[in-house]
Amino acid sequence: MGNDRPRVLIIGGGFGGLFCARRLGGVDVDVTLLDRAACHVFQPLLYQCATGTLSIGQISRSLREELAPHPNVTTLLGEAIKLDPEARRVTARRPDESMYELDYDYLVIAAGMRQSYFGKEEFAAWAPGMKTLDDALSIRRRVFAAFEIAETLPPGPERDEWLTFAVAGAGPTGVELAGQIRELATRALANEFHSIDPEEARVLLFDGGDRVLKSFAPALTDRAARELARLGVEMHFGVHVSDVRRDGVTVSSKDGGPDRDYATRTVLWTAGVEAVPFARHAAEVLGAKTDRSGRISVDADLSVPGHSEVFVIGDLAGRDGLPGVAENAMQGGLHVAGCIKRDLGRSARKDFRYRDLGSAAYISRGHALLQAGPIKLTGLIGWLGWGFIHIAFLTGVRNRFSTIATWMASIARANRSDRTFILGGSGHPEEPYTWQSAVHQGHHASRENSRRDQNAG
Ligand SMILES: Cc1cc2nc3c(=O)[nH]c(=O)nc-3n(C[C@H](O)[C@H](O)[C@H](O)COP(=O)(O)OP(=O)(O)OC[C@H]3O[C@@H](n4cnc5c(N)ncnc54)[C@H](O)[C@@H]3O)c2cc1C
Repeated sequence: MGNDRPRVLIIGGGFGGLFCARRLGGVDVDVTLLDRAACHVFQPLLYQCATGTLSIGQISRSLREELAPHPNVTTLLGEAIKLDPEARRVTARRPDESMYELDYDYLVIAAGMRQSYFGKEEFAAWAPGMKTLDDALSIRRRVFAAFEIAETLPPGPERDEWLTFAVAGAGPTGVELAGQIRELATRALANEFHSIDPEEARVLLFDGGDRVLKSFAPALTDRAARELARLGVEMHFGVHVSDVRRDGVTVSSKDGGPDRDYATRTVLWTAGVEAVPFARHAAEVLGAKTDRSGRISVDADLSVPGHSEVFVIGDLAGRDGLPGVAENAMQGGLHVAGCIKRDLGRSARKDFRYRDLGSAAYISRGHALLQAGPIKLTGLIGWLGWGFIHIAFLTGVRNRFSTIATWMASIARANRSDRTFILGGSGHPEEPYTWQSAVHQGHHASRENSRRDQNAG
């Protein structure tokens, strides 16, 4: 750095931030990509990591390694916590709690969404969400440890609690998790235990709507529901999970019927999303409007009204017709890079036009939904299409080959190669030996920290 080239600061190395940074590689600007995790995570395959099919290395890639071919792009580890739009400066926090500052000429906010507990933050301690690698590992620990703990117990209600899994939210992630736990129980784990019969594991899927996968056409979701029922997933619609405890959930009916308690030691939460804390703070100091989930209203070129130097892309961009999917983030990243190049060339910016290339959802081995315009596929053909799309967008050639190899091995044999979970260090007071993972407690603590930062900011 240290020259007069415009400085572009991108917050977040997900689909939006990474595609923007890549497109600005080689352009006459200095790009800094700041990410709190320093790696790009392929979120659509997080559930396969959580249920032991893939490793975290197969679904993620170091941003530094990914962007090494672009000398004008710097990647930095840190969490953006404060924005000063007048000074055009962002304050970032290192993981050791110390701070540093980054100045910009252009700011691209691509920090994504996080799991929402609809104001019931205390649920997070017992019901991990599914947004980060930490979440995936936390879920892996809880699911596999539940079977292991059940094996040590005599038959009875306590053992049954460990063999009952509750999933809140029947969108793609909830459906994928529910289906995978039943597949795990009936295939990979079926013949490995001596005391319990893993096939008896109950998987309960709760949703406030009237069907699974609401964003797909009803004909497709009917097929998905039949397949889930065949797998043994118990679906409950028109309900919301109104309480989560160490040993169970309460489910309330939306039509005013009586509440019902279910005894379970594993609750997974995929029910809603909200803007990350930095985005809420940024909207406030920029004077930008937000929707209920905290998405920031943007102009047609994806810049914030009144701040043509600040863009918002991906899941955080609040504009009609922009869905929270990877394709929107990738296209937004490329569009903003194009706007910056046009500014440098002194030509007018173009409006962002999102092109819907379709969506896909995995149901079970050999079954997936694929919907692209008039094309609607289910079953094996949908599954092959789903696999092709996911491999095409997975970051890193090595990850693509190793994921294909792992999938082929797990089709040929029932086993799952990445079941290892961590239960804490031996004799370490800071890492107690517990199924109640330090990871998910850390997640809870970090939500508290975020709120504290926000209030302080
Ligand atoms: C489990 C799951 C499954 C999904 N499946 C699909 C699918 O099948 N198909 C599909 O199209 N979409 C899917 N999605 C949605 C898709 O992943 C998102 O739409 C997409 O990732 C959004 O990209 P983004 O760049 O806006 O944000 P993200 O990809 O979420 O990236 C945000 C980045 O910002 C970083 N960050 C956050 N806060 C800060 C901060 N304060 N400072 C610095 N860095 C920060 C994070 O570390 C992260 O790297 C799925 C999402 C999830 C969670």
